[in-house]
Amino acid sequence: MKRKTIITAAVTGAWPKKENNPNVPMTPSEIADDVYACWKAGAAIAHLHMRDENGNGTMNTEKFRETVNLIRTRYPECDIILNLTTSGDINADDAIRMAHIKELKPEMASYDCGSMNWLHSGVFLNTPPFLEECGYLFQETNTKPEIEAFDPGMIANAAYYLKKGVLKAPLHFQFCMGCANGIPGNMKNLLFMKETMDALCPGSTWSCFGVGHSALEMLYGAVALGGHIRVGMEDNVMYAKGVLAESNAQFVERAARVIREYGNEVATPADAREILGLIEK
Ligand code: ZN
Repeated sequence: MKRKTIITAAVTGAWPKKENNPNVPMTPSEIADDVYACWKAGAAIAHLHMRDENGNGTMNTEKFRETVNLIRTRYPECDIILNLTTSGDINADDAIRMAHIKELKPEMASYDCGSMNWLHSGVFLNTPPFLEECGYLFQETNTKPEIEAFDPGMIANAAYYLKKGVLKAPLHFQFCMGCANGIPGNMKNLLFMKETMDALCPGSTWSCFGVGHSALEMLYGAVALGGHIRVGMEDNVMYAKGVLAESNAQFVERAARVIREYGNEVATPADAREILGLIEK
């Protein structure tokens, strides 16, 4: 049996704009088209953020609804798992960050398991009351948390919420490597994150991504260490040093090549649902 590796496409995020890379999708229509292209290239999960009319990150529920509907109606054959962010606007209050989860009950959503400084400019606040309410909400809506850990302390925090019943095993982590104020992205640190997870939350699954120059190291590391991988323009607008990415699908195609060259299989959405224990909707 070949090992199956899940590719998540994070197509837009909250920050890169057309001036950073003209190929970043911004509108619901552009995002839907990119998600479809990524699915065709091998992505099993799409991690979605929304943008307002000025291209800034927004947690507007209607934007999420419009985009989800577009993906499902324009491309009915596309069975990609949708993972909605709960952290798409640093100024959004807790209620707005959870409103689309209550309305749309997605299969997956991000869960940022601690607070940190953000891009040397603000505070990315995930308070204990927010994390508790969000964890219980995800249980009600059968939404699998994608636990984003920007440092090992956030894994320890997830272990605390697991013990408390706010989160339910098996957990699925996203190790966010190489972000400003987070753990630097290198192999030694990736292994440390995995070992910390194995010790504190045994039986969990994990994925990772690397920002900037750590992107490829984290891709190869994830495949070699038995994890899963996230790629896309939320994390990198450059495909290689000095080369702007042509599309999100270009990143997915590269990840799929690396997975196959290693001898693994690229997980389909059905495979990913089984690996992660999702409740299909
Ligand atoms: Zn995100």
